[in-house]
Amino acid sequence: MQLRPVKTPVLAAVFVAALLLLAGCGRSTVHEAEFYVFGTMVQVSIAGASEELSNQAFALLQGRFQKMHRDWHAWEPSQLTAINAAFAAGKPIKVDAEMLELIRLSQQAEKQTGGRFNPAIGELIGLWGFHTSNFPMHGPVPNGEQLATLVARHPSTSDIELTPDGLYSRNAAVQLDFGGIAKGFTLDIAGAELRRLGVQNAIVNAGGDLRADGTQGSRPWRIAIKNPLGGVLGALEIRADESVFTSGNYERYLETANNERYAHIIEPATGRPAREVMSATVVGKDGWLADAAATAFVVAGLSAWSDLAHALDIKMVLLTDASGQIYATPEMLERVELTGDRQAIVLSHEK
Ligand code: AMP
Ligand code: MG
Repeated sequence: MQLRPVKTPVLAAVFVAALLLLAGCGRSTVHEAEFYVFGTMVQVSIAGASEELSNQAFALLQGRFQKMHRDWHAWEPSQLTAINAAFAAGKPIKVDAEMLELIRLSQQAEKQTGGRFNPAIGELIGLWGFHTSNFPMHGPVPNGEQLATLVARHPSTSDIELTPDGLYSRNAAVQLDFGGIAKGFTLDIAGAELRRLGVQNAIVNAGGDLRADGTQGSRPWRIAIKNPLGGVLGALEIRADESVFTSGNYERYLETANNERYAHIIEPATGRPAREVMSATVVGKDGWLADAAATAFVVAGLSAWSDLAHALDIKMVLLTDASGQIYATPEMLERVELTGDRQAIVLSHEK
């Protein structure tokens, strides 16, 4: 993997869900770098810092993302595949502190989302063939009986406990897949590392999911939210210490021989892909929670999303459905500048 410093800011990678927008004026010097890791182009922009400090930060972040790739890969040999093998064999396994923290946060996210976010359903995800980097993928829909049998075994992160001999799962059906939370957790770590280095103004954009700190000179960072159906939905101003995560049903999917599409976000209760929500964008302080919540909003659908926002105490949500209709909370609408004459249906998350 090559760290590639770029002189001019990169506005878009084809698959990103959000792009950096440049403020026209009041902009301080921005140093940028990008690298490709874990199937994602990571773009780092640092404002108002020396070139030396920026380069130090780029190298550090690249190391962090590489570690994530090594440790948490769900299908290439990694610390995670070793854990899953131990769980399936009913054996305990020693893991590092970072893995323990990620599992603890995953347990919290599963509980808070009423099980809509459930990273213990790795076997279901594998059964659908989504353990691949090549999207869209082609193939048949998995066998219904096999899906039902797996769902009936109720894999949950609450089955995992820490014993003196290491991590242990009471349920052999638990197979972890951090695809819906690892990026958020990593961006939180990246933010903490940047602050520790003394970098105060930065935006780390990992394939459209991002975390920002500080400002870009005298202006807030601005990003664009991609329209799943093409183009841009709108621009969003980012405050300091904020994360923006988008989950979608539009890029990673299985296409069958008769052109039916099945998205990579699985409803744990049925073992089948979520269908109603096309994309969900969440703005929040903690990356891990925004990431897990965005995935959970896609699962929740249009009828259950507001209960979920309430349960998670998340105020800024924007959803789109298959027809392209936008739904947003009042707090989100206050901050997002929708493109053209787009109208959003305002959703209330108040009880
Ligand atoms: P994201 O892009 O953050 O929504 O994450 C999607 C990824 O999370 C998928 O590719 C799967 O690896 C995994 N995943 C799918 N469905 C779920 C779910 N209901 N809960 C947790 N992780 C999931
Ligand atoms: Mg997610």
